[in-house]
Amino acid sequence: MSGPRSYVRVALPLPLDQTFTYAVDGASLRSGMRVLVPFHRQERIGFVVGHGGEEGVKRIRTVLSVMDTEPSVSESQMRLARWMADYYITSLGIALKTMLPSVLSDTSRDVVTLHDGPRGNLSPREVRLVEALTPGTSRSLQAVKRGLRMGSIWPEIRNLAAAGVVSVETLPPRPPPVKTERVVRVARWIDDIEELNVLVGRARRQADAYLALAGSGGTVELAHLTGQAGFSRSVIRGLEEKGLAVVEDREVERDPFADIPTGADPTHTPTDRQQKAIRRLVSAFDAGPREPFLLHGVTGSGKTLVYMEVLSHVLAQGRSAIVLVPEISLTPQTVARFRARFGDEVAVLHSALSAGERFDAWRQLRSGRRRIAVGARSALFAPVSDLGLIVVDEEHDGSYKQSESPRYQARDMAVVRSAQEGALCVLGSATPSLESWHNVDRGRFRLISLPDRVGGGALPPVRLIDLREARKKSKEEGGSRSEGGLVLTAPLVEAMRDRLRRSEQTILLLNRRGYSSFVQCRECGDVEICPACSISLTYHRGKARLVCHHCRHEQPTPERCPRCGSTDLSFRGLGTEQVERVVAETFPEARLARMDVDTTSGKWSHHEILGRVERGEVDILLGTQMIAKGLDFPRVTLVGVVNADVGIHLPDFRATERTFQLLSQVAGRAGRGELGGDVLIQTALPEHYAIQAALAHDYVGFATRELKERRHPAYPPMVRLINVVVSSPVAEDAAANAEAAARWLRTEVVSGTPVDLIGPAPSPIERLHGRWRWHFLLRSVSVKALGAGARRLQAEFRTRGKDVRIAIDRDPSALL
Ligand code: ADP
Ligand code: ZN
Ligand code: ZN
Repeated sequence: MSGPRSYVRVALPLPLDQTFTYAVDGASLRSGMRVLVPFHRQERIGFVVGHGGEEGVKRIRTVLSVMDTEPSVSESQMRLARWMADYYITSLGIALKTMLPSVLSDTSRDVVTLHDGPRGNLSPREVRLVEALTPGTSRSLQAVKRGLRMGSIWPEIRNLAAAGVVSVETLPPRPPPVKTERVVRVARWIDDIEELNVLVGRARRQADAYLALAGSGGTVELAHLTGQAGFSRSVIRGLEEKGLAVVEDREVERDPFADIPTGADPTHTPTDRQQKAIRRLVSAFDAGPREPFLLHGVTGSGKTLVYMEVLSHVLAQGRSAIVLVPEISLTPQTVARFRARFGDEVAVLHSALSAGERFDAWRQLRSGRRRIAVGARSALFAPVSDLGLIVVDEEHDGSYKQSESPRYQARDMAVVRSAQEGALCVLGSATPSLESWHNVDRGRFRLISLPDRVGGGALPPVRLIDLREARKKSKEEGGSRSEGGLVLTAPLVEAMRDRLRRSEQTILLLNRRGYSSFVQCRECGDVEICPACSISLTYHRGKARLVCHHCRHEQPTPERCPRCGSTDLSFRGLGTEQVERVVAETFPEARLARMDVDTTSGKWSHHEILGRVERGEVDILLGTQMIAKGLDFPRVTLVGVVNADVGIHLPDFRATERTFQLLSQVAGRAGRGELGGDVLIQTALPEHYAIQAALAHDYVGFATRELKERRHPAYPPMVRLINVVVSSPVAEDAAANAEAAARWLRTEVVSGTPVDLIGPAPSPIERLHGRWRWHFLLRSVSVKALGAGARRLQAEFRTRGKDVRIAIDRDPSALL
């Protein structure tokens, strides 16, 4: 390498709160480019984040390889990454890595080739390296390195390459995992048919093939020519030999959604209400957007049409957009509507995409060939330029929060990104998060309400069925039981029977999978617990095993109590598998589909099940919270909630909010068509305010009450929280380190600041994946002070024992 030497600062995707200086010869590097650099005894892909000098750096190492010709990270993405690293207390390198498709942080695929010829004087390390290679064959550097176990081999490789002993294929700008198809292309254009005739001589088929090829624009898929068009491979080969055509690979962009029907044309004329909302949003956009908008529209109020109208205005101004949806597989209808309306402008980012497919979508957005990114959480990082709009549909949804590090909240980051890029931000929900509702109260967000369903349809009437009373009298009155007790009360059975008779559909919710959620000994009271987690094992009857829903540990169903040996075991706590059995026994003629994690492991199984419901091939759809989101089936006229109380008593400050949201959302699936609908909720807590509010479709009443509850003791959104979880395989280590960290924070950091420290205490789930967990909370109204405290904790804690981990979760979605 030659040329002037310069210095760059590089962020590495490691949990280190600093950047590193490297020298680079010759190349002029720009911020956002990826480089391969030596780090300790390894090579790492890092991101250039700035230029610098050599001052203060002890030993400057050199960039091994530049992996981009154009920056992979745009300036606006860099700005967002800086915010993310700072706010969520992670490193800039990790934030940047999170934003990019995984193939871009793939480690090197360089190959090294050993040449024949004189080798000169080699160092012992170089000799070892040469001995690992075979002359004339290329090997992956990484594989060579792994085999040698001698640390970084780059210095040796460089010397050997300089001496001409080996050659290294330099890294191309990341080998794109592109998919190709074989095409035939005209190599030489011939206008004169006589000339063509002379060239092909008696091979008439070659002339026909050439004309077919030329007649369709000059490039045709090989499969088409040899298939439908009926030319043999040897005819094509003849064209190749005469220099008239070439067969080559052409890149195709994969779009797994291409085969999925996009539904009917969804273009409706907006109602007056919708029109008003659209006008407000459009004029906010035109004026240069400021505060985000909260679109609070009841289920079926037509929020999607509002998004789409605003989106088309934004596109017409030459800008682009991001639409976030909770989980694509669960909201196929929303995605289909966007695709139907905006066609090839839409790139769908789906969790089932392969790394290559994800990369394709990324490139399409990056190049501006597609201007709308639709996807779950991580679509927030879509590399669109000229961002004009971010929509967060179902903004309350828990899936917007990433549970693994970096623990970002995509809805909150949507607000940040749109502010940074001057885009309009629209958060929509029928049951907004209390955070967003509170932001409306504080004047941070502006509120637009759609209080009515489109077409004047009423929200379905909700009826509560008191499970305590029903259990007492179900013997006399019917209802459907299983060995565990009453499952479906008589009124619910009656309502379902009625729907079956009228060929209408029922949705049945129970937010707990498996057959029985725990197994208990009647003699000694022992409950079967996961060996790695402090969680009871769920009985799955289908596979006759006990399963841990956190770590997936499985074991055979016991015949006797492992503690006292009694055979008197009771299987308690109702799950979907058991409901399925009871429904099947009660309505043998009904066509039943169950949708939960256990039935939807395949890539497209959600689509398959929902497709059957849509086509009317299912009478009763039973499932967990998966079925509560965004579904719009006009023939669903009954929603039954088997037990509304599941989860309501979890030791978590959001348990009540979640229960209300789930009940409201699932109730919103009923009566979306002209047939109307009913909702029946079975509960043992009919007086609970979350259930009462769901009964009355009263979001505002619920939010007002729940915000009051969050004042004393103070919980978000009244304060900000950071949950610090200290874990270790050794129970005492988790406890001792949590105590020590909390003590240190109290005395060294938070005293005299507006930050409270609460705890430490064992986490509600004390043990998970074999690790014991203790936690404490940092609580403050000051966003800044909170962040500063946690950052110091992280820096201090890095030096603790190696099996002890500390997880810092800012704005936690749950404290379990
Ligand atoms: P939400 O997301 O608010 O629950 P949707 O956007 O799913 O509501 O709309 C509910 C239903 O109403 C959908 O079937 C949609 O196609 C239909 N719809 C929306 N707007 C209109 C309109 N202006 N005229 C007729 N039908 C509409
Ligand atoms: Zn026992
Ligand atoms: Zn477990």
